[in-house]
Amino acid sequence: MDAPVIIVGAGPAGLSLALGLAHHGVRSIVLDKEDATSTHSRAFGVWPRTLEILRDWGAGDALCDAGTFLPIVAVCDAKNARPLLTIDFTTISDIFANPGALIVPQYDTERVLRERVLAGGACELRLGCEVVGIDQDADGVNVQVRSGGNVATLRAPYVAACDGASSVIREALGIPLDGMNYGIRAVISDEQLEDEDDANAPMIRVAVDRPGLLFALRFAPKTWRVIASVPAGMDDATATSEEEHAKRLRAVFNCERHGRTTHKNLFQLHRRRAQRFVEGRVALVGDAAHLGSPAGGEGMNAAIQDAANLAWKLAYAIAGRGDAALLLASYDAERRQIIADMNDALADRLTKVTMSMRQLVRKAGLRFGARMLRERGMQRKTSRAIGMLSGRYTKSPLIDSRHPLAGRRIDDVTLASGSRINQVRGGKACLVAVGDANLGGLRAIRVIAAPKRWVVKPPVVLIVRPDGVVATVVEKPNRAKIEAAWQRAFAGEKLS
Ligand SMILES: Cc1cc2nc3c(=O)[nH]c(=O)nc-3n(C[C@H](O)[C@H](O)[C@H](O)COP(=O)(O)OP(=O)(O)OC[C@H]3O[C@@H](n4cnc5c(N)ncnc54)[C@H](O)[C@@H]3O)c2cc1C
Repeated sequence: MDAPVIIVGAGPAGLSLALGLAHHGVRSIVLDKEDATSTHSRAFGVWPRTLEILRDWGAGDALCDAGTFLPIVAVCDAKNARPLLTIDFTTISDIFANPGALIVPQYDTERVLRERVLAGGACELRLGCEVVGIDQDADGVNVQVRSGGNVATLRAPYVAACDGASSVIREALGIPLDGMNYGIRAVISDEQLEDEDDANAPMIRVAVDRPGLLFALRFAPKTWRVIASVPAGMDDATATSEEEHAKRLRAVFNCERHGRTTHKNLFQLHRRRAQRFVEGRVALVGDAAHLGSPAGGEGMNAAIQDAANLAWKLAYAIAGRGDAALLLASYDAERRQIIADMNDALADRLTKVTMSMRQLVRKAGLRFGARMLRERGMQRKTSRAIGMLSGRYTKSPLIDSRHPLAGRRIDDVTLASGSRINQVRGGKACLVAVGDANLGGLRAIRVIAAPKRWVVKPPVVLIVRPDGVVATVVEKPNRAKIEAAWQRAFAGEKLS
């Protein structure tokens, strides 16, 4: 075996999986067909759940230094810069330390991940290595790699396919993609504005009086992403013409600007999901497994969250801790469920409302959203949903979903010591005891008063996995019950 895990693709999914594996002490080889890393930004937002994971792995501060951290996100009217909608992440500061959205170009996210991965020493990054084939047997996976005109074979017990939307591995394994096309096109461009002098001007603007969506976001100094939906009757050539583009820029910046378009592309919006995320010893991660509409800004975030779910399971499987097949089956069940919930619910709704060509629908959606968000409860709910904190795994063999808290991310509440749960947990599995629980000598993080939304009747013990998910709620706990629940949560691994 050349490494415990071979990761194909050094995008956000592959790099974060390498970082997650290193956090659990597992070595990996990451292969990427490109010689250099991309400088074109696709994703520009890192949501709270993703940031929480990267903090667990020691990359949070470096990533925040690379971007602009927004505790409150205001979407403004392009005409007069007045806020149309505001999402106040500070409303969830009781369950999330330092909440907010991080605006950072994807190339910086990848750079930070790469630096952390290489600094850790547990990962070997091989650029200019294209995977051209794969086969597996009962003990491992062979990966055919073309590099400098030669093809060589590497072998590992597990392989992660992080090779993006056109995954050759998904193709080679014959895993079909299900999904649909929205029948909506959008022009997405990056604009470098040389004459921009007000760094404090609103970062997110929407031209509401246009027939479709016209949106701009500053994701780096003087650098904007512009997204515009294309009217159904307009052909592709007109949609991407200089003339149409200039009109869009004038409308969204509300004046003539000087600068240059560094990137412009016409996209068809669709959502796709692989029928299986696991085949034997190979797992699909990130865009290789699922593609969503860009409306929710979730693709890269979901890729990193896939990696968080998979990293500890691979680490346990490699260490012979728990049933490897069950651990991988749970990755498949959990991530397919969450991606379906995410793509088919939030991103789908946002796509239909924000990209809808009917101005009335879009305006009504905006007005309705703004009214709802005046209520603190709705702000909290929205912050959790947009922040990707509210998903729940219920269809997993490792989750005892009888209690409504099981399958959810643990709220990062403040403990009596003043620390937060996640600071104490440090990205590792643990027991969290609420009330005067009888632990029979087991160690646990003690929570004095549980949030109401946990709906627990103390004393209870929560079994929390390394990815911060509550696997089980043990009611009226004792040592034997906790040990049995732990074994189920960790695919047979005993509590030590
Ligand atoms: C215009 C646009 C805007 C977006 N905006 C957002 C956003 O705001 N928020 C968000 O969360 N997401 C956004 N996304 C989605 C996001 O960019 C992707 O979801 C994310 O890049 C997925 O990461 P990944 O690592 O799975 O795949 P990729 O980033 O595609 O990385 C795949 C890697 O695999 C390598 N590779 C491919 N084939 C092989 C092979 N055969 N052998 C070796 N290496 C190989 C590639 O070179 C590449 O480095 C956007 C996407 C686009 C196109």
